[in-house]
Amino acid sequence: MKQIPLVYFVDWGKIADAQIDAAFAELNEMGAKNIVIHPDWWLRDEEKGSFLDIIRKKMLAANLNGQACHGPWRNEYGLSCPDEEQRKKISLSHGRFINRVGDMGCLTYTVHLGENNLEYSKEYLHGQIRKTLDELLPEAEKSGVKIAMENMIDYQMSDEVAALAAEYEHSSLGLCLDVGHAHIKEGIETAIKNMAPYLVTCHLHDNNGGADQHFPPGFGSVDWEFLIPVLKACPRLVNAETEAGQYNGLSRSAAWEIFRNVWLKPEFVSGQEKH
Ligand SMILES: [Zn+2]
Repeated sequence: MKQIPLVYFVDWGKIADAQIDAAFAELNEMGAKNIVIHPDWWLRDEEKGSFLDIIRKKMLAANLNGQACHGPWRNEYGLSCPDEEQRKKISLSHGRFINRVGDMGCLTYTVHLGENNLEYSKEYLHGQIRKTLDELLPEAEKSGVKIAMENMIDYQMSDEVAALAAEYEHSSLGLCLDVGHAHIKEGIETAIKNMAPYLVTCHLHDNNGGADQHFPPGFGSVDWEFLIPVLKACPRLVNAETEAGQYNGLSRSAAWEIFRNVWLKPEFVSGQEKH
């Protein structure tokens, strides 16, 4: 079975600039060589023009790779933006980010398609998504990056994103299974069944089935022993992202250790100490 790298996510929006070097050094020391490129870095780059270069240099110095990237996730960056002028701006911004992260060696770029805006029909919003994808896919192809459409909780669940991926059948377009999102409504088994052929990345985190708590594995009710082997068997999977951020005083390295162990040996989670 091919080796799928685990990519560590840190919520950089909560970390002061002065702490970035120390955090990078810690990630390197704990063995998390692959990290998720954060959308806040891009939004700052768009404002000032050099922030991503600063981060890139720091990552190189700390020997870290930006294997995966999350595109700006706030609703105003959704691919389905109903206002055409605004949609074009969003699309151009995603396109520039994709080019930049492609240069940094990034392989996957996760996007949120945008919330269901009830003032508009689903057909109209899907039309907007298609226009944005049509603009972004050539950029992604050129940059060697795969765009990954993420399943959400109340809208754009696994069947909807999978149908779009199937419609395109494009080598630069895949899916991102958010395990926590799937666990809350539709169930992980259903989601993975729908998404498996197109899965290029995934967001690993746990919850109690009621709220999007972003816990590390084993701290909620996700069945990791079922999930991990099925994920690893997905034919197009490029990497797997940890999305637990900081949890209840668990150190960054303790959370990383849990993810690493679960990824290698999913039965580990049943034996670990619960908080
Ligand atoms: Zn996610």
